[in-house]
Amino acid sequence: MKGPGDAVPASCDVLIAGGGMVGASLAVALARLSLRVTLVEAIPAGSPGQQSFDSRTTALSRSSRHILGTLGIWPAVAEYAAPIRRIHVSERGRLGTTVIDADEEGGEALGYVVENRLLGAALWRELGAHSNVTVLTPARATSAVTAPDALDVHIDEVGAARTERTRLLVVADGARSTLREALGIAARTRPYEQTAIVGNVAVDGPQTATAYERFTPDGPLALLPAGEGRYVFVLTRRAALAEAVSALPDPAFLELLQREFGFRLGRFRRVGARSCYPLELVEAEAVTGHRVAVVGNAAHGLHPVAGQGYNLGLRDAAALAELLAEDSRQAGAQPDPGAAALLERYATWRRPDQRKVVAFTDGLVRLFDRTGLGPLRGLGLLLFDTVPGAKRLLARETMGLAGRRTRLARGLPL
Ligand SMILES: Cc1cc2nc3c(=O)[nH]c(=O)nc-3n(C[C@H](O)[C@H](O)[C@H](O)COP(=O)(O)OP(=O)(O)OC[C@H]3O[C@@H](n4cnc5c(N)ncnc54)[C@H](O)[C@@H]3O)c2cc1C
Repeated sequence: MKGPGDAVPASCDVLIAGGGMVGASLAVALARLSLRVTLVEAIPAGSPGQQSFDSRTTALSRSSRHILGTLGIWPAVAEYAAPIRRIHVSERGRLGTTVIDADEEGGEALGYVVENRLLGAALWRELGAHSNVTVLTPARATSAVTAPDALDVHIDEVGAARTERTRLLVVADGARSTLREALGIAARTRPYEQTAIVGNVAVDGPQTATAYERFTPDGPLALLPAGEGRYVFVLTRRAALAEAVSALPDPAFLELLQREFGFRLGRFRRVGARSCYPLELVEAEAVTGHRVAVVGNAAHGLHPVAGQGYNLGLRDAAALAELLAEDSRQAGAQPDPGAAALLERYATWRRPDQRKVVAFTDGLVRLFDRTGLGPLRGLGLLLFDTVPGAKRLLARETMGLAGRRTRLARGLPL
């Protein structure tokens, strides 16, 4: 008779806990490999509580667009994606702006704005087409224990408990990851005491394919082109004030946006429903554990000021998928997706990029957070605009083209 922990073969090679933006992207990347993948998602895609794929939009970097292209997802969203050809950074009441222009960066758009809902639908539709991917939803991965050459992952499937044995567990359950915590991987968390207010606004000026990042004394304001005379705004306010600001009657809210942004896009005409997102910095102290890899927001939850969260998480997913593909092709050796050496290669590859983007994003928030560095900030933006090397560096980071690039980002299949 077999007891618990005996050498029962694993029911899957990779179990991904969390099918949000990053977990679902990873599952799509792995679906084309000869791996058995199980995706566990707490809230079914398309249901109202699914926050990862809500009515928000995401500014995809050029690198993310390439990854989604190689994965065959891009054609499903391209028609609805608004290109970003310029990024304009300024500060209210100060001289000094910086502009990153696609024409100076190889011609192709710097990035694209897509609705999370559309991207989620495309990713989940693709998952349904692969018989090697098993989806468990609604279901929560709650903890895991070591088994021979595997992990036993405990899953709560609407009140019913089940266990899945996997060679590798990928933690992709978001910034407030309870699974990461249950596995004993600590994270540094710092609330920004700021809330992002997100919505759509119609403008009467010309469409410019320009994304604007404007720093104001009360917090940053981003405007992203959404096509058809609309822009998506991400207005950051002190947490204590955000609900009241968000609930302002439409004319008062439009007036506030106009005051903060100015008239570069003409007059703001209509504003849609607003949603609030409290902001915090989350940084996992490790991105691997025994047969565990941590990806996306579970590894690094960022302030949205620079629009980097998903872009960074997608690079995690693309790198991990590449390492797993290499492992599965190894001649002679028995593939092991949870091998310590493979996970070490994942951490070595991803840590520098993650640290750089966390430091860059957090630095930007702090610099513009009423620290009294005003003149220096204006000078900084002016310098970025006039020193070609500095601007190029910023541009490459923003487009996700810095550092070692994945095969998927270079248009090559795994
Ligand atoms: C206002 C705002 C604007 C943003 N704009 C941009 C942008 O322009 N560009 C950009 O790149 N990024 C942007 N981001 C960041 C981006 O949204 C996140 O980085 C991205 O959603 C992270 O995806 P994720 O899959 O790692 O985590 P999440 O989106 O949090 O998904 C986690 C998933 O795990 C599921 N889950 C939770 N617990 C469990 C469990 N125990 N078991 C199974 N499933 C579980 C959840 O239901 C969810 O589906 C923005 C964020 C905000 C708040």
